[in-house]
Amino acid sequence: MGQKNQLDDPRLLKGKVLPILEKIGKCIHLISIDKFCEDISVGLYEKNEMMTVWTFTKGEKAASRIQQIKERLIDLGELSTSTTDKNKLVFECGEKHTSLLKFLLRLAVEKPVEYKHPEYPVKDLRSNLMLGAISQKGPNGWEYKLTAQGEAANQNSRFRAITKGLIRYGSLEQSSDGSMYFSCKTRHDKLFQMLLPIARNVRGVEDELEADAMRGQMTTGTLGFSPPV
Ligand SMILES: [Zn+2]
Repeated sequence: MGQKNQLDDPRLLKGKVLPILEKIGKCIHLISIDKFCEDISVGLYEKNEMMTVWTFTKGEKAASRIQQIKERLIDLGELSTSTTDKNKLVFECGEKHTSLLKFLLRLAVEKPVEYKHPEYPVKDLRSNLMLGAISQKGPNGWEYKLTAQGEAANQNSRFRAITKGLIRYGSLEQSSDGSMYFSCKTRHDKLFQMLLPIARNVRGVEDELEADAMRGQMTTGTLGFSPPV
């Protein structure tokens, strides 16, 4: 396939990868081919709630692309540079939000650099509703409530399905009045904005995740890495 990724790197076979992984931690998600940068592979790794964007490809181009992806993650996910290590990213709330990071990394690597999350309202995929969210402080910290413009006979079932999607892909929790909140109970407006279009399309996302998992196994499994989780 001619792709330049860590599998072509002879250091792998000499056992020099393990010390790096010890430093940067566990692979949360791996993009096998970055079409915007010479088909390098880009991984997001986590250790002690700190995230590292990493490629095993050497060179200036790869290094500046990694920097660009970090900036995209900061912009799209409201991550911050760690105060103790400027190469690492953290969520200010202190949590890892692992399930969200997979989606975030994909957007940061696979979308053009000017990509922004869709603004509310976004069109539902299985009704004519235009979806949005309002957020405010509530008993469970910062809470998000789904909103819809327009009318649809299946509005209740669509809200239930979208709520399920938010719980599944964002690990959000639901309060008794139906509002949603992140496990850290803090405000993550951009993450919610990212999740809503994903949550309205559970079936499509499942297919994509399956394809991703297959690719992950092909690229990491053959050399005895554990597949990204
Ligand atoms: Zn958080």
